[in-house]
Amino acid sequence: MDGIKNIQSFFIVNIMNNYEVKLADVKPKKGLLQNVHDQFNKAADLMDLDKGVRKILEINNNEIVVNFPVKMDNGEIEIFKGFRVQHNNALGPYKGGLRYHETVDMDASSALASWMTWKTSLARIPYGGAKGGIQFNPANYSKTELERITRRFTYAMGDNIGPEYDIPAPDVNTTEQMMAWIADTYMSTKGPDERAKSQHVVTGKPIGAGGLEGRDRATGYGVVVSIKEWALATGQSLSGMRFIVQGFGKVGYWAAHYLSDLGAIMVGVQDQNGSLYADEGIIVGELFDYAKANGNSIVGFRGAQYMEDSEFFGIDCDICIPAALGNQITELNAHDIKARLIAEGANGPTNTAADSILIERGITIIPDILCNSGGVIASYFEWLQNRNGEMWDMQMVLDKLDMLIKNSFNRVLARAKEFETDWRTAAYIEAIARIETAYVQKGIFP
Ligand code: NAD
Repeated sequence: MDGIKNIQSFFIVNIMNNYEVKLADVKPKKGLLQNVHDQFNKAADLMDLDKGVRKILEINNNEIVVNFPVKMDNGEIEIFKGFRVQHNNALGPYKGGLRYHETVDMDASSALASWMTWKTSLARIPYGGAKGGIQFNPANYSKTELERITRRFTYAMGDNIGPEYDIPAPDVNTTEQMMAWIADTYMSTKGPDERAKSQHVVTGKPIGAGGLEGRDRATGYGVVVSIKEWALATGQSLSGMRFIVQGFGKVGYWAAHYLSDLGAIMVGVQDQNGSLYADEGIIVGELFDYAKANGNSIVGFRGAQYMEDSEFFGIDCDICIPAALGNQITELNAHDIKARLIAEGANGPTNTAADSILIERGITIIPDILCNSGGVIASYFEWLQNRNGEMWDMQMVLDKLDMLIKNSFNRVLARAKEFETDWRTAAYIEAIARIETAYVQKGIFP
């Protein structure tokens, strides 16, 4: 395990930079963190995971908190709190998104970081897991303020991120523009000979700034590749199937786009502003254009009816794609769900209690670490492209994504059969086994 980079003690405050790094206090687990621990324990018990490896994987390698000042447009100074959790790097550099949201804290970042460890291992790409972000609502800030917040956060993180060490990417409320600011800030702090070599410090950049063709759609596309594999495995056609999507952002929109291309019908959609329903179907492209022109909100769209948020998961449909935040499907609404398949575009959308209810009800779940892995796989392609000075085209990206996700899907099905378990537990077993092998073969230093 690595220590926190360049930090000798557990708690250091560098007053000049307002730069603070500390290990989080030990406190009871809650929310997303409890879910990820429940999921891990279920798999670890079933596969009889090596005791020492289990201890290592139960904790985070590094937990970083930075408090940093930013000058607002009105000249006042505001202090922001940023997080980066580096869960494990047994298989390669830490990798995972940055989220700008009020719910970002140490627990949420820890849960999301360990999901990244399982996801990258399952996809067989050479990364570990990390996650982080800033605890605030970006909708309350101007574009120029967001640029300064992003750049100052990058500066505060310093060498705790790096192209061969920890590579962030977009997540909720972070955009390719923000990834470009991160790359530019990081590269600007390096000497001239290192600058060009550092472009892959972050993925999900715009194409002109070293980004990858197709990275924008990769997660949603991958969700649909997984759904196609489910249809194939169960001998069904997706044409005419009804689906609902929670979250109409980067993941939700592209999943809806590719699924409707296959003849499936979007009958419900929800974002943070409201919920829409149309029995005859909502035209995905029209809703996208509307939301884009309407401050990224679906509210007011005329091609559907408005409905109560609490009724959303009860819509009559075949496929439900949660693609917003975690803990959306719980014991409170799991009994209402009519869908036969839940394809987890979001990270951690289903809590442990809901998981058991859904399995009991015979509803299939394609787990997040498989279903939304297209994003980190495409990030890996972008990283390789930058590192090797190559240019990949869209078709090459989508074809390779297809191949890797299908490969993971089939390995998960094989594990489910071998251990007679659900797909989530099977995916965990497949992911953890690869990390276990790495530790057993390498041993523990010293
Ligand atoms: P995004 O910011 O582009 O979109 C988020 C969407 O969720 C928006 O439409 C927003 O209105 C909606 N939303 C937020 N709060 C909501 C609420 N309480 N109820 C209903 N809708 C709500 O984010 P994204 O990148 O599409 O990420 C969505 C999910 O997918 C997250 O869980 C993220 O961790 C996961 N994910 C993203 C990627 C990626 O490549 N972007 C990869 C893997 C997983």
